Amino acid sequence: MTISTTQNQDRVRRGIALLKEASKGRFENLECPDCLKPGASVWVTNPVPDEYRTWLLCAFCDFHSHVINSGKPAYFTEDRRRADLEERDRAVLNPMVFKKPLE
Ligand SMILES: [Zn+2]
Repeated sequence: MTISTTQNQDRVRRGIALLKEASKGRFENLECPDCLKPGASVWVTNPVPDEYRTWLLCAFCDFHSHVINSGKPAYFTEDRRRADLEERDRAVLNPMVFKKPLE
């Protein structure tokens, strides 16, 4: 249990390191939190107005993670926007958006 907790903390720490890289303008060939290979990339989505997500993906393993941003991230650009990930975010958000009955 101690070991896995430590591993999780390491993964979280490395995931945060990826976000720091993104804030420095580096989005590709970053160290993957899982396999440690330089295959991680950072993407952003804007599934609905005022909702932003940051995605972390690895080219070498099945690592993928996403962070819900409290506002528009400073590194958000159209270049880093991924339509397929945005669709996935929207699919999760839509049930909430349409929960209220239409008048
Ligand atoms: Zn990986």
